[in-house]
Amino acid sequence: MANIVAIVGRPNVGKSTLFNRMIGERKSIIDDISGVTRDRIYGFSEWGTKSFTLVDTGGFVHGSDDIFESAIRSQVQIAIDEATVILFMTDVTTGITDLDAEIADKLRRGKKPIICLVNKVDNSQRDLQANEFWALGFDNTLFLSSITGSGTGELMDLINTYLPADSDDENQ
Ligand code: GDP
Ligand code: MG
Repeated sequence: MANIVAIVGRPNVGKSTLFNRMIGERKSIIDDISGVTRDRIYGFSEWGTKSFTLVDTGGFVHGSDDIFESAIRSQVQIAIDEATVILFMTDVTTGITDLDAEIADKLRRGKKPIICLVNKVDNSQRDLQANEFWALGFDNTLFLSSITGSGTGELMDLINTYLPADSDDENQ
């Protein structure tokens, strides 16, 4: 079974931007309008000697907050069930929202390794603002800018620490 790394989080936080950067091609659609990734999108990513399947989640529909929130909940549950590592993405420009807190609660109960990503940390002022996200309680919290790529190398290193070595992988 291949390693699966899933990116979950609210619409518009930058999941698809990070996904495209990590797989090195534009496969996910990025848009300023929330909810533009219609489905789960899979890509292949590797870093050093390790590789994994990356999942960009979306599947949200326009028109109803209830529908998009329930779609997020089900994507979070699928990630808890299937992923080796879960990337929980948040957005420094909005601060912690109620939905972020709810997703964080659900992820904490899921027992999978979580890396909390505070995205859109494009400059030093945002780096200070990002500290509020430690309140979500994840030891693995990284600040990054998916647009500039700042912090993404550190993220790849951290993901790799949760993946089995290649020789183990062959036996799975
Ligand atoms: P998704 O809905 O979570 O998949 O978010 P998208 O990847 O579609 O991005 C939503 C918006 O945020 C787009 O306008 C992106 O260009 C923008 N965005 C993504 N990452 C960053 C970042 O690191 N910094 C800034 N300033 N904007 C970003
Ligand atoms: Mg998207």
